[in-house]
Amino acid sequence: VRFYLQNIQDNAHLNAFLEVFADEALTQAEAVDAKIRNGSAGKLAGMVIGLKDVLAYKDHTLQSSSQILNGFKSLFTGTAVQRLLNEDAIIIGRQNCDEFAMGASNENSSFGNVLNAADNSKVPGGSSGGSAVAVQADLCFASIGSDTGGSVRQPAAFCGVVGLKPTYSRISRYGLVAYASSFDQIGTLTHSVEDAALLLEVMAGADEFDSTASQREVPAYSQHLEVSGKKKIGYIKDTLESPGLQPEVKAAMENAIEALKAEGHTVEAVDFPYLAYMVPTYYILTTAEASSNLSRFDGVKYGHRSEQATDLNSLYKKSRAEGFGEEVQRRIMLGTFVLSASYYDAYYTKAQKVRRLIKEKTDELLSRFDFLILPTAPTTAFSIGENAKDPLAMYLADIFTVQASLAGVPAISVPAGTDATNLPIGLQLIGRSFEEQELFAFSKYLT
Ligand code: GLN
Repeated sequence: VRFYLQNIQDNAHLNAFLEVFADEALTQAEAVDAKIRNGSAGKLAGMVIGLKDVLAYKDHTLQSSSQILNGFKSLFTGTAVQRLLNEDAIIIGRQNCDEFAMGASNENSSFGNVLNAADNSKVPGGSSGGSAVAVQADLCFASIGSDTGGSVRQPAAFCGVVGLKPTYSRISRYGLVAYASSFDQIGTLTHSVEDAALLLEVMAGADEFDSTASQREVPAYSQHLEVSGKKKIGYIKDTLESPGLQPEVKAAMENAIEALKAEGHTVEAVDFPYLAYMVPTYYILTTAEASSNLSRFDGVKYGHRSEQATDLNSLYKKSRAEGFGEEVQRRIMLGTFVLSASYYDAYYTKAQKVRRLIKEKTDELLSRFDFLILPTAPTTAFSIGENAKDPLAMYLADIFTVQASLAGVPAISVPAGTDATNLPIGLQLIGRSFEEQELFAFSKYLT
């Protein structure tokens, strides 16, 4: 804990942590140390973990990097975090992220940018940018983030760490601030696949506080990380042809494909006719869900309350106008629009249908292939400010991560070398629903 506290202090300029629980973590460490000595320590004894600022931890501030939750403290600990604590993990602090997890660069935080530790002029990716940089720069051992459309995988790729988004419903969402509930999943940022496996094993499983959490048995993922036999891997042909794909990312994909073939695995190009529809479908559905989820922040129940209000309506309007940042307001408006009576069928219902097609096609591919391989992001980390004024360019950064989110299947991003300027490249493997075991084993093998 002292090692990490020192590193956090030395790297304060990265802006990865919003708050550090220094005394508390040291006290926790002493208690865990005593347990280690008497042989009663849990599976995560001594693992020092940071939490993205969207996870509820009792009596600790929870703000989703937003001013609308200014002054809010959690009344309870969410299930995933409680399970970490039950296994003697040590929680070291709260990490910066895009406001309400909306973003791909961590530039939407009301607490300022996070800097990529590989190059301080670059973004760390988002929305779990602080969580990724914290692992990248050794500010904690592992981070817990959330992934709605890539928010764990894309920053993991930009920062050269491992990012896992489990199957939808594998980890309870109780205590995770809702962005788009039919997409949101808690995920992990770690140095290794083994650590991701161990953390998932601890956090996953049924939960009486989240009726959507899967009842399926949780395997001891970390105990079975060996690959058996040769695999069939598919890649979507068009991903390699997409115009925005950085040549070095393309080369990393091609190298991986060649290496897999050389080792006797089958790798085949497949057609996926919906590539161009994935980002629009994702943004219609997630903004719709967000506009509904974020209606609870009304200046009455939580956090920020405008002092300029003259009546109830102006209290709502002014509190929300003052409390939400620009990107969050944009998404609430988009979501409200696509859900409005005149446009509901044209946008929301249509997008639901397209989501179903994407899911069916993805599942069909996964019935023929063990895994799909694709880049995590079209480029390596871009410069701070580069996409900040152009929401559409920013949304296109999600082109390769939203498929697994729309389909609800698990996906992992693993480091795959660097570009000419030494920025990390990430490759992504998508697996079948609830087959994280196979996904871990094969991604470990791939690294
Ligand atoms: N960049 C995507 C978005 O802004 C992903 C965010 C996420 O996964 N939370 O919606």
